[in-house]
Amino acid sequence: MENCLFCKIAAKQIPSTVVHEDDDLMVFKDINPAAPVHLLIIPKLHLSTLSDCTPEHAPLLGKMLTLVPQLAEQHNIAVAYEADGTPTRGYKTLINSGPDGGQEVYHLHMHLVGGPRPWRGMRT
Ligand code: AMP
Ligand code: ZN
Repeated sequence: MENCLFCKIAAKQIPSTVVHEDDDLMVFKDINPAAPVHLLIIPKLHLSTLSDCTPEHAPLLGKMLTLVPQLAEQHNIAVAYEADGTPTRGYKTLINSGPDGGQEVYHLHMHLVGGPRPWRGMRT
């Protein structure tokens, strides 16, 4: 897809801090992090929004979501439990879709946001 920022990042025509890459996905650090950890998980395939996805994309979307626990472990934000069972750490996953959803870059991406609070926060 011409003139798509994240297609260019996936093709390494524009630099980014890549933390994971496989045949289908790329994960890089958000340039304007809302929290200590802020990663963007993208498919290499250009899909503009979640609304462009169909059931045929279920494996790809599943891959994006199931990569999260691995990334969370690697970045020390996975949910853990104190000895008494109290949960600690954790993160948010977010897909903004369309203008009312606050989407700015029209290449499907999932935010993975976490780390110790307080966070700077995200635009709504
Ligand atoms: P959204 O509002 O969901 O479309 O989010 C787009 C995200 O892309 C924002 O959090 C931006 O900070 C981030 N972003 C924009 N340009 C770049 C870039 N060149 N490298 C990394 N992240 C970027
Ligand atoms: Zn694209």
